[in-house]
Amino acid sequence: MSRVLLTGATGYIGSHVAVELVNAGYDVIGVDNFSNSTPKVLDGIEKIIGKRIDFMEVDCTDYNAFEKVFEQYPDIEAAIHFAAYKAVGESVAEPLKYFKNNLRSFENLVELMVTKGKGANIVFSSSATVYGQPAMDELPIKEDLPFQPASSPYARTKQIAEGILEDCVRAYTNLNGTILRYFNPIGAHPSAHIGELPNGVPNNLVPFITQTAAGIRECLSVFGNDYNTPDGSCIRDYIYVVDLAKAHVKAVDKMLQEGIRWNVFNLGTGKGLSVLELVNAFIKATGVNLNYRIADRRPGDVEQYWADPAKANAELGWSADTPIEEVLLSAWKWQQKL
Ligand code: UDP
Repeated sequence: MSRVLLTGATGYIGSHVAVELVNAGYDVIGVDNFSNSTPKVLDGIEKIIGKRIDFMEVDCTDYNAFEKVFEQYPDIEAAIHFAAYKAVGESVAEPLKYFKNNLRSFENLVELMVTKGKGANIVFSSSATVYGQPAMDELPIKEDLPFQPASSPYARTKQIAEGILEDCVRAYTNLNGTILRYFNPIGAHPSAHIGELPNGVPNNLVPFITQTAAGIRECLSVFGNDYNTPDGSCIRDYIYVVDLAKAHVKAVDKMLQEGIRWNVFNLGTGKGLSVLELVNAFIKATGVNLNYRIADRRPGDVEQYWADPAKANAELGWSADTPIEEVLLSAWKWQQKL
């Protein structure tokens, strides 16, 4: 079976993708520098799949160190690039940190895949933030919606990296590229052996909800109830991380089987949920009471958006259909384990 390189393999999405790739029969080589994860994640993956994945501790911005992965594993045919910083607020305060890390690591990966890979199939982990705030008549978001100016340096790194891959696919005939634009990934593996490990106070909604339910945080702030939405709170497309991981397997399958040079997919459920709907779904699913209050809007938040996943549904033969209650229960089970 083909070997797939995962950069950021011990991160939130990378670890779930490692599990699904092995379950589908792929050989995996994972790399990570543990800048936002721990070696314990490798134990969690092993508990689920019953074996240790091949792994090297590498900083992908270090070309010489990264090159050694290709010397040790000359059979790499595809790579999925997750390794990146992802805190939007931090990226505003320290843009250079984001450009240096997120872009340098990706440039190194593309160069190494083109020159050293047995195959050069790259899946890039992108984000719906590349679209910015769409107009109401542009919802749900399709892949051909033009980008708005990036709302943060983080979003800009995603836009630029997509462009880097597109230009390189045009120039290097052995290179194929697939862009996956995630909406809001949430939840954890049902085994509770792997999940999201927020660093300090969580920025994201679901880790904040589960930490509040667990008594680690006193109260959840719902950022705004005066938006132009049915209940006034913001609307997002929350996608189960395991469903999201399965889409990566389908994307790699397709690249290896069909050799398509360039493809872009939105990965979401196609359904928007408001913050208050999500809070109520959590209370209903877990039976746990949640202390929350309405707070001011969070600066920089987009009011509402959700995906049109029709292209991924049709071309990847994939859909994200795990019920939200089940997804929120998985997040709660993981929180209790933590
Ligand atoms: N949100 C909230 N309280 C929080 C964290 C997030 O009300 O403590 C809201 C946020 O305003 C947004 C939604 O939850 O409308 C999703 O935010 P998150 O940071 O998880 O993802 P984003 O969509 O910003 O990438």
